[in-house]
Amino acid sequence: MSDQPPLLRETFPAFAAELVSLLTSDGHTDLAVCAHDLRIVAQCGCGDDFCQSFYTAPKPDGAYGPGHRNIPLLRDGDRSGMIVLDVVNGRIMYVEVLYYPPLTPQPANPAT
Ligand SMILES: [Zn+2]
Repeated sequence: MSDQPPLLRETFPAFAAELVSLLTSDGHTDLAVCAHDLRIVAQCGCGDDFCQSFYTAPKPDGAYGPGHRNIPLLRDGDRSGMIVLDVVNGRIMYVEVLYYPPLTPQPANPAT
């Protein structure tokens, strides 16, 4: 399983914890469970310096289709940034992270 994309909670533990707690407090308990196991499949790649969005599922070929919905979690773009989940049929496909403080990767844990 070593070829799996990195787990969000291992790469950005603080962000993953915030995501889970935002989902839980908004009543999205099912998505909170999903958020715990999210993997960073790809960075957004748009190059905008306010954008740290990432894919948690392979990029779709086109639009996400009828099962798609957006779940805004943080809307205060000036202070704490903006987080919007793209969910398709209950699966988190993409996490929009805009105007958010820089996500700093957790240094790799030295093996003990
Ligand atoms: Zn982007």
